[in-house]
Amino acid sequence: MALQAATQKMVAEFDYPASDVNKGVKEFLREMDEGLGETGTTMSQIPTYVTAVPNGKEKGLYLAVDLGGTNFRVCSIMLKGDTTFSLVQSKVAIPKELMVAKTSQELFSFLAKQIELFLEKHHNDHFEATVRRRRTASASEGYKDQEYFQLGFTFSFPVQQVGINKGYLIRWTKGFDIKDTVGKDVCSLLQDEINALQLPVKVAALVNDTVGTLMARSYTSPNRTSTLLGAIFGTGTNGAYVEKLDQVKKLSIGESSKDYDQTTGDMIINTEWGSFDNHLSALPNTPYDDALDKESNNPGIQMFEKRISGMFLGEILRRALLVLANNTEAAFCSDVDSSKNDIRSTASIGPNSTLYKQWGLDTSFLSVVVGDTTPTLKIVRQALEKDLDIDAASYEDAVTVKALAYAVGRRAARLSAVAIGAIVLKSHRLETDDVIDVGVDGSLVEYYPNFEEMIREALREIPEIGPMGERKIQIGIAKDGSGVGAALIAWSAAQRYSGSSD
Ligand code: BGC
Ligand code: MG
Repeated sequence: MALQAATQKMVAEFDYPASDVNKGVKEFLREMDEGLGETGTTMSQIPTYVTAVPNGKEKGLYLAVDLGGTNFRVCSIMLKGDTTFSLVQSKVAIPKELMVAKTSQELFSFLAKQIELFLEKHHNDHFEATVRRRRTASASEGYKDQEYFQLGFTFSFPVQQVGINKGYLIRWTKGFDIKDTVGKDVCSLLQDEINALQLPVKVAALVNDTVGTLMARSYTSPNRTSTLLGAIFGTGTNGAYVEKLDQVKKLSIGESSKDYDQTTGDMIINTEWGSFDNHLSALPNTPYDDALDKESNNPGIQMFEKRISGMFLGEILRRALLVLANNTEAAFCSDVDSSKNDIRSTASIGPNSTLYKQWGLDTSFLSVVVGDTTPTLKIVRQALEKDLDIDAASYEDAVTVKALAYAVGRRAARLSAVAIGAIVLKSHRLETDDVIDVGVDGSLVEYYPNFEEMIREALREIPEIGPMGERKIQIGIAKDGSGVGAALIAWSAAQRYSGSSD
């Protein structure tokens, strides 16, 4: 049958065999080293100035905000000092127009406003006693030191960090594109807007979400094994890991800050692996990847991310399905002459189908489709109708969609294994440790069926890891990681500046 053959051929385009995984690992290791030595290489390998992972004893009340790819979260976190915490949060979808605003101020004033709303709602006593007091009366005095909230700012984009609460935006990723922000210190952009609202909030730490995930996982990690890697597989993808300080050659170059604790001998590095292999020397490349990239707002960069993360997988699938739909021979979702006794139903794609809309297909669609185990693929067909406006799709159409959604996701998982595998190998912990802990977060690991198992399958195919090594790698979700992580880093910044150590 034509559709079946066309589908198989397309599925094969997403193959990423063991030999390629291993080639990827070698290139990943090379680019990690290169990035530690110089700035401006494809993988940024950004020193974070965070030199220790938490031990679970950290304590206190902190604010955290998280500007991710999709949502903005504000939360307050009570670290209880016994590996547990409590958290109150609010979340808003970031308005699309702010992601591509003309000025940074439009975005950052929106963020500050959300902080104000949060404080008013969840810390009203404090709000009344400080902000209200200051705004009313003739009170011109500022706040007392102890009235300030210390805030950890999770900013999930590549930043040239020059200190614990200072960093310049290198480039926007995911759906963001505000030219004016590039090169600016995102902490002061936020602090300025907080000050404009006269809020008692100090931006104390700047944190990438992967670093937050690593911190949070370490704080709560079951048997107190120290965590090696924090990774996000969500709207975007990235990882941060614990590196030996003396490997971070570029710290001794130029005017990097020396203001960090050197006693642990470690530093957390934000790899920005989304830009691994931008030159495509080891990455798989299909016509759909190619077209996606060319029509994105950042062609030629984030090439690894564009094959792995949530923002892109739906778009890859959409482009593949569109090619099939236009291939009359394959007869995917097309009207079929019933006089030829074809068993296919007569499906039709609505003119306004999201199949025709760039970024129209969400990754959640893939998760739903792949998760359908009903014998008639009822759920896939419902999703086609609801999300793609495809009327009366046949069982064969559904089989095709599921097979492709699986192929795209499986390739993403195998690519993810390249990054995880390379970092595990670079750490040499397999030689000494029984457990190597990895904290993860993001919609893909959380919702795409068997994502972790597919990563593991590929890890076993790396000879230096193998089934023995793979078993030592413990992967766990760090729920609310970015909030807790940011609080932990704000905690450690506060310790440093008050000179206390508990
Ligand atoms: C950003 C990273 C971030 C990742 C996950 C990427 O697009 O460049 O900084 O960690 O998304 O949110
Ligand atoms: Mg996030």
